Amino acid sequence: MKLPVSQIQPEGTYFEGTCEEDIFNLQDKAVRTAGGTHYAIYAFPTDEGIAVSGKLHSPFELECTRCLTHFPYEVAIEEFNAEAPVTGDHFADLTETLREDILLALPGYPRCEMSTVEGWKCAAEGQFDQAQKGNEDTDDEKPSPWGALDGLGSPPQ
Ligand SMILES: [Zn+2]
Repeated sequence: MKLPVSQIQPEGTYFEGTCEEDIFNLQDKAVRTAGGTHYAIYAFPTDEGIAVSGKLHSPFELECTRCLTHFPYEVAIEEFNAEAPVTGDHFADLTETLREDILLALPGYPRCEMSTVEGWKCAAEGQFDQAQKGNEDTDDEKPSPWGALDGLGSPPQ
C-alpha cells in the first residue's frame, strides 16, 4: 500500500480506503485472505518520510484446529502506527509493515470460537474436549486423528 507524499499536508492528511492488492502472498492453506485490507489512517510528513497512525481491518479465513474447516476471521488493529521512507516515485510504501502487523495479529491456534462472525459454530464443538487436551502444540501439518470421525453424524443431543 502506497501513499502519495505530495498529498500529505504538514498538519496531517486522512486516508481511507481498501488495499485490494494481495500483500500477504500466503503459502499456508490454513490461512486464506478473504478480501482487501481496509485502512483509515492519518499520515504526517517526517524528516525521513512519513508517519501514519490509524486503524486496519483485514478479513481472513482460518482453518480451525479442532474441526479443520475454515471460518471467517477479521484482524482489527485499532492502533496502527508506522513510519515509511519516501521512495523515488514520491510515494511512501507501507506494504511491509502493514503485512507484518496484520500477520502477527493472527491467532497461533485458530478455533471457530474466535470467529468474528457472531454465532459461528464449530463442527467439533463439545465432541472432543477430553481427547484434545494436552494436544495443543502438535504439528499443524498433521491431519487430525479425529478428522475421520467427521461425517458420522452429530452426537445425541
Ligand atoms: Zn471448528
